[in-house]
Amino acid sequence: NAKGTGGNACKVYETTMDDKAYELYMLRGEFRKALEQQQFELHYQPKISLTTGRITGMEALARWRHPEKGNISPAVFIPLAEESGFIQELGNWVIQTACRQVKEWRETEGGEIKVAVNVSVKQFIKQDVAAFVKATLEEMELPPDCLEIEITESVLSSHESVIQQAVNNLQKLGIKVLIDDFGTGYASMTYLKQFRADAIKIDQSFIRHLPNNQDDAAIVSALITLAQALDICIVAEGVETKAQLDFLREKKCCEVQGYYFSKPLPAAQMSKLLNRQFSFEQ
Ligand code: C2E
Ligand code: MG
Ligand code: MG
Ligand code: MG
Repeated sequence: NAKGTGGNACKVYETTMDDKAYELYMLRGEFRKALEQQQFELHYQPKISLTTGRITGMEALARWRHPEKGNISPAVFIPLAEESGFIQELGNWVIQTACRQVKEWRETEGGEIKVAVNVSVKQFIKQDVAAFVKATLEEMELPPDCLEIEITESVLSSHESVIQQAVNNLQKLGIKVLIDDFGTGYASMTYLKQFRADAIKIDQSFIRHLPNNQDDAAIVSALITLAQALDICIVAEGVETKAQLDFLREKKCCEVQGYYFSKPLPAAQMSKLLNRQFSFEQ
């Protein structure tokens, strides 16, 4: 109780903050070793077309299995990697690993499966991501339509011109660029116009309270109409219930992703799902 114990409570609070800061500081120092020791892993979550029920692609999501601390969330280690400069090395590992996986899937399961990779804005600032992607695809003899790049909207405001150039270069290579967490930034419409994305992913915060929350329902329907008018695909993230799915189908959303269909899973488990067709009726 902060009020009751006065200064003491404050001290306790500071100590915990220090512990937390110290722990984060320690983690920063472990990145390189963790990458070498293969503590990082990619999990994959399917995106499903609402017209065909087929899996159109997989989003690669990074996982850190720490030997002592257990699983560390990307919400924790990605910001740390960005701030410590490790994001380039980690991000390149993610791109290479996802490409290797999609190559294996295309060879063994056939089809046109794609993998979407999240790329941090900090990585765009540090290196020529389009050149790295081009070299990776060439080396692995992969066509550009096997890879998609997701960029989170809330960070687009910094270094707009660098990212704009990178997005143009990626699209020239034939790689689709998606705006992730759409609606969470300060200038969603401006970014939509400026970046000419191939698809937008509605942030899960707008999906969570569908269909009952009328404001969210209005926003999501308007976004779907907007995407249709712009002739781009719109993906709903974080779909967990049948009621959410029914709403999105009725509004003619393009694709969905979420626990209702599958949690992100290791590649081996995902392989079995690749050719599955979902049925939405009943
Ligand atoms: P994101 O790209 O928006 O990914 C979606 C997040 O929502 C993932 O969390 C996913 O596991 C979670 N999710 C999917 N379906 C559902 C659902 O139905 N309900 C709920 N509650 N959550 C769902 P995750 O894997 O913890 O990743 C968090 C964020 O970390 C990602 O958000 C992305 O911004 C970032 N991230 C993950 N992997 C990478 C990476 O390799 N590189 C970069 N730069 N960022 C990454
Ligand atoms: Mg994403
Ligand atoms: Mg997202
Ligand atoms: Mg995100």
